[in-house]
Amino acid sequence: MTDQVRVRFAPSPTGPLHIGGVRTALFNYLFAKKHNGTFVLRIEDTDQNRYVEGAEQYIIDALNWCHIPFDEGPNHNEKFGPYRQSERKHLYREYAEKLIASGNAYYAFDTAESLDHHRKDHEAKGKTFIYNWHNRKLLLNSLSLSKEETQAKLDAGEDYVIRFKSPQDQTLHLTDIVRGDITIDTNILDDKVLFKSDGMPTYHLANIVDDHLMEITHVIRGEEWLPSLALHYQLYDAFGWEKPQFAHLPLLLKPTGKGKLSKRDGDKLGFPVFPLEWKDPQTGDVSRGYREDGYFADGLINFLAFLGWNPGTEQEQFSLDELVDAFELERVHKSGARFDPDKIKWFNHQY
Ligand code: GLU
Repeated sequence: MTDQVRVRFAPSPTGPLHIGGVRTALFNYLFAKKHNGTFVLRIEDTDQNRYVEGAEQYIIDALNWCHIPFDEGPNHNEKFGPYRQSERKHLYREYAEKLIASGNAYYAFDTAESLDHHRKDHEAKGKTFIYNWHNRKLLLNSLSLSKEETQAKLDAGEDYVIRFKSPQDQTLHLTDIVRGDITIDTNILDDKVLFKSDGMPTYHLANIVDDHLMEITHVIRGEEWLPSLALHYQLYDAFGWEKPQFAHLPLLLKPTGKGKLSKRDGDKLGFPVFPLEWKDPQTGDVSRGYREDGYFADGLINFLAFLGWNPGTEQEQFSLDELVDAFELERVHKSGARFDPDKIKWFNHQY
């Protein structure tokens, strides 16, 4: 792995960029600049059902408006190729097949109906159905079928997914720069789908393959991805790849401090905050992303920097360069960050 710090912001283009996303982008940017590293923007657009036309451009415009420039992406780069996952599909297929060849993944032919049946059957007995070592050999997949039977199904064009064969009977020791050490018993993990029947990779596979190929040294992302960390560790191990370091940023909480800030809360508070217009391609509704008083990029950046971080000094206002100097991942808080709309007004008036 490179000695140079390389971080990425990896949004899925499912709508306009929201406040949590900009905070993630900002922390990645500050960390990269502090270490003379590279800030990559990667567009994770493999989920065709959630893809929204125009969202990628909105994300780019929003980052530009906030003065959070990226160094690479999403266009083709000579060394790393395209940064839009839909243009890298062949790679994910190749790597899924490598996992099958090494015995770390398998084809599964179970229909949605049969999985639903198993789920209900287990529920009726007060149990939870988990597709993993408990029952993977009893279900319809290449671990329970012979080689010939599996091949016959593939040749007949039957629908299948590729599942990860999650290693069992292990204690995983995960390390997160923000959360510290975490221990996981692998027997509770399920065999996650890596490749879907529509021929597209899932987030987990594409994300790991790209972080490895793009030589990402630090994965800085929202806390909602923390539950995926065990699987990601297992995938790195299955490929035999060195892991990046991980830092999961605290949740953003509602202004009351109770509960997670939702997109709907954000909209009520006048977010997205950028003075950029968002036209919903489905409804045709146009919203301009700022309230009447408006926000200035510098005030917004200060507001965002303090959402789950502080410099440990009395200083309240920073230029972007000062933030770069002061920023340390070790000072990111574990507990949720309350979204205080009065605070953003205060910052706004200082600029
Ligand atoms: N595409 C994921 C998202 O939309 C990225 C998560 C990650 O950074 O690993 O949040």
